[in-house]
Amino acid sequence: MEQQPKINLIYIGSIGHSGSTLLESMLGAHSKMTTTGEIHMWPHEILQGGVKPCICGESILECPVWSEMRRRVDPLSQPEPQMHLFREQWDAGHTVRLDRLSDFSKGALSADIAEEVEVYGQNNYEVFGAFLDIMREKYSPELNWVIDASKDPYRLLWLARSQRFNITVLHVVKKPPSFAYSMVKRLPKEYANLVHRRLYETARQSLKWSIENYLITKTAQNHLDSGDYKLVNYEDLASDPMGTFKKICATIGCEFEAEAVTNFRQGSQHTIAGNPMRYEGKGIVLDEKWKTKLPSYLRVTSEVLTAMNRSVYGY
Ligand SMILES: [Zn+2]
Repeated sequence: MEQQPKINLIYIGSIGHSGSTLLESMLGAHSKMTTTGEIHMWPHEILQGGVKPCICGESILECPVWSEMRRRVDPLSQPEPQMHLFREQWDAGHTVRLDRLSDFSKGALSADIAEEVEVYGQNNYEVFGAFLDIMREKYSPELNWVIDASKDPYRLLWLARSQRFNITVLHVVKKPPSFAYSMVKRLPKEYANLVHRRLYETARQSLKWSIENYLITKTAQNHLDSGDYKLVNYEDLASDPMGTFKKICATIGCEFEAEAVTNFRQGSQHTIAGNPMRYEGKGIVLDEKWKTKLPSYLRVTSEVLTAMNRSVYGY
């Protein structure tokens, strides 16, 4: 393997709907960082002709940065496995991939899988490298870290195993009933008041909460140095954004910039599956509506189904 310098990659690991967008916005507002958004959705965006606009407001096909990206690296012309390997559809990836679970162990991979991981690493290396180049040319030569807000644990594992990146993982978690409330309130109107649908959604999402968080933690334990991982509780981030962001900067190894917290809405310039926070006016507030709005049968369901590991995350 040729010796290319490793890229400094900040990976946001999370089940989503847990404060990860808020964190991504703060990081993107730091003068030394730039965020790609949910970069593993880029090939789907191209295939479907632009579903969700870039944060700049343009379709991914029209945005100047993503058009230039595609001229430099076409993710659909790269060798298999391509960068959306673990994102089977535009809006969904699997939580459990039985044939991939053994990859999370410390042990060596089979020769076939090791070869696939290497190609996957190289494909992603080219994409992140091109993005950093473009953003340095366009905004600031000082940019030193690129952010991947894809959040998926399988993707994180393969990126870590590829050895192409200096990875820092920021693992964002939210208290299970609070997360359950975030998901139940997203149910389509026709299901929103059906008890069995609410129960099913809470149960499904709570199991997913346990499994995905477990896989991110496993990746960190088996494939990262402990200094390259930080658990970020949504409740801390939202109630003390300055203090929490200071600790995050210490983990990353960059200077703390208070402006990144106060100007978080200006943080992202061009991101895949753009970040809706930019268009809201509110400051940072801890959302605890679940305490009054989540019925107790759903709260208990979420607590029971996450009991296997929620204490690992302080819950
Ligand atoms: Zn754009």
